[in-house]
Amino acid sequence: MSGCSIVWFRRDLRVEDNPALAAGVRSGSVVAVFIWAPEEEGAYYPGRVSRWWLKQSLAHLDSSLRSLGTCLVTKRSTNSVSSLLELVKSTGATQLFFNHLYDPISLVRDHRAKEVLTAQGINVRSFNADLLYEPWEVNDDQGHPFTTFAGFWEKCLSMPYDPEAPLLPPKRIISGDVSRCPSEALVFEDESEKGSNALLARAWTPGWSNADKALTTFINGPLIEYSKNRRKADSATTSLLSPHLHFGEVSVRKVFHLVRIKQVLWANEGNEAGEESVNLFLKSIGLREYSRYMSFNHPYSHERPLLGHLKYFPWVVDEGYFKAWRQGRTGYPLVDAGMRELWATGWLHDRIRVVVSSFFVKVLQLPWRWGMKYFWDTLLDADLESDALGWQYISGTIPDGREFDRIDNPQFEGYKFDPNGEYVRRWLPELARLPTEWIHHPWNAPESVLQAAGIELGSNYPLPIVSIDAAKVRLQDALSIMWQHEATSRAAIENGTEEGLGDSSESTPIAFPQDIQMEENHETMRNNPPGPVRRYEDQMVPSITSLVRADEDETSSGIQNSIGDTRAEVPANVNLNEEPRRDTLNEGVFQQLRPNNTQPMYNFSPGLQHEAEDSTAESSSTGRRERDGGVVPVWSPSTSSYSDQIVGDENGIGNSSAFLQRHPQSHQIINWRRLSQTG
Ligand SMILES: Cc1cc2nc3c(=O)[nH]c(=O)nc-3n(C[C@H](O)[C@H](O)[C@H](O)COP(=O)(O)OP(=O)(O)OC[C@H]3O[C@@H](n4cnc5c(N)ncnc54)[C@H](O)[C@@H]3O)c2cc1C
Repeated sequence: MSGCSIVWFRRDLRVEDNPALAAGVRSGSVVAVFIWAPEEEGAYYPGRVSRWWLKQSLAHLDSSLRSLGTCLVTKRSTNSVSSLLELVKSTGATQLFFNHLYDPISLVRDHRAKEVLTAQGINVRSFNADLLYEPWEVNDDQGHPFTTFAGFWEKCLSMPYDPEAPLLPPKRIISGDVSRCPSEALVFEDESEKGSNALLARAWTPGWSNADKALTTFINGPLIEYSKNRRKADSATTSLLSPHLHFGEVSVRKVFHLVRIKQVLWANEGNEAGEESVNLFLKSIGLREYSRYMSFNHPYSHERPLLGHLKYFPWVVDEGYFKAWRQGRTGYPLVDAGMRELWATGWLHDRIRVVVSSFFVKVLQLPWRWGMKYFWDTLLDADLESDALGWQYISGTIPDGREFDRIDNPQFEGYKFDPNGEYVRRWLPELARLPTEWIHHPWNAPESVLQAAGIELGSNYPLPIVSIDAAKVRLQDALSIMWQHEATSRAAIENGTEEGLGDSSESTPIAFPQDIQMEENHETMRNNPPGPVRRYEDQMVPSITSLVRADEDETSSGIQNSIGDTRAEVPANVNLNEEPRRDTLNEGVFQQLRPNNTQPMYNFSPGLQHEAEDSTAESSSTGRRERDGGVVPVWSPSTSSYSDQIVGDENGIGNSSAFLQRHPQSHQIINWRRLSQTG
């Protein structure tokens, strides 16, 4: 007789439309498990607000499972696969079911889990619960993956079969014997974080049934005007579903089906605005799909540009700039307001994400990975794939990213997205009394106006850290340097010489600065006594003003005041005379690189897919519609250099020589297409 099934929950924290859970229930008794092994994520240890969400979501899931007849067994581990093996032994399980993830670390881990447990005679099956279509189902006419969003999404929308209809929650669950695998208490926050985290609960309600309510509210409310309102940065006109979607509290298939029902309804009524809203909202969902698609097909996309020539871009490695950006002290009100909101609430509207990230890479020219990592550490919806897609798009490092030489002026964007300056005044109290005419460019305001508003530029609010004109010149210089190095490197490769600018010289991305590695200092999270000294105080204490209910406004502003006291020192002004250091290839390129790159590099070996399928007890092949037994790609540690991987890429992405043949010595890149509505 077969034993029970282990259902391994990860970022699929729901009982509804959960194919792994459904398979477990169909097979008999179930042991539901969550393993907390954040060290496996390396640099991408979840940030404070993300851990807060996870904690609430797990409690919610446990309560739902209990009402259905079982519970959620929680385990603390540094090795998920070993923990699974232990669980199999202690429960007598004969089957393991889980749902797919598409970030590189999970792909490797899940493949290993399949291999190891299958070798122990366990029936392992995995399923699609996160996407409308699996990445390997969506290819161009030649069978190659798409390299632009437009092509990808067009194909998804014209697939000959619809995404599967969502499954209902199980009626009840027969519990496996968990007496020999008691739950371990998981610690997601330390004492110093609890107060700040408590504030988050005023604005957000994690948990799958709350996600369901949020979805219903959005579909029956703001959805119809999404096309008109989605760009309003200062109001809740978008779905706010991203953290729910990240943790898999709501099924994307359910979102798709419910939204499509509305589409049909509005089409029948001749409601064109409603139809357009649905199309744009589905496109947003499509971007999320594409982020997984990109991660699956280009597993290094969270750390390296997809366009090969951009690896020669001389990023400015300046921790002072980085700190000023994080603390909202750049001297550009819209950027600073956004960064203060992010620090305080863990949330930013998509528009403002675009503004602050664009400023980061184009005006400050800081390495985009730093910004991506900071978003990862601070966002409630921190999601490696979407974060990487967003930053690569803004940086222009993917084929349909923004034009690389485009610089948006935060002053003009301010008047576009915050015409009355309300957003800035909310997050920058020091500018609250400045008239709207000057709110987005205080440096131009007459002295008398500044005095009347109580503003002393360079003292209680900074002067612009870099002028936009200077940034434009610097960007052009940097692009020239990039093309020069690219050409030298190409010539060296063509001549067969290894000297000078060989690819091995920059096979590691620019290291994160010391103080962004806060979240890698995890002693308390290992359930050990507290002790670590945080070096990242400037984003620890949130106050919520934009998202709290109106009746709580007073309390929250009081809290905000007290926060100011605990905040790390903010530089009164940034030394504008000191020229930041730019890493160049000639200067001993990327000297700041981590000496020993501890991050694993992986190669995706499509040719090995069959092997992967064989290793599963029940596998689907490319293009099949079954949900279960999905293909788990085979990954192997890289034996080639980064340039090998890039050049080996299909369809010209990162194929720098082909690219240069079309665009010799030019920074104009053809085929730029808007990736998102965030244009
Ligand atoms: C630099 C940058 C970094 C980003 N980092 C993240 C991140 O870490 N996590 C994250 O979920 N989103 C990220 N985004 C995408 C986007 O800003 C958020 O998904 C969106 O603001 C969430 O709000 P919403 O749920 O109300 O979105 P809606 O407008 O209601 O969209 C519905 C859903 O579609 C998805 N979506 C929308 N836009 C995008 C997009 N551009 N890329 C991928 N998915 C999208 C999200 O899952 C979202 O919940 C980033 C964007 C940028 C420019």
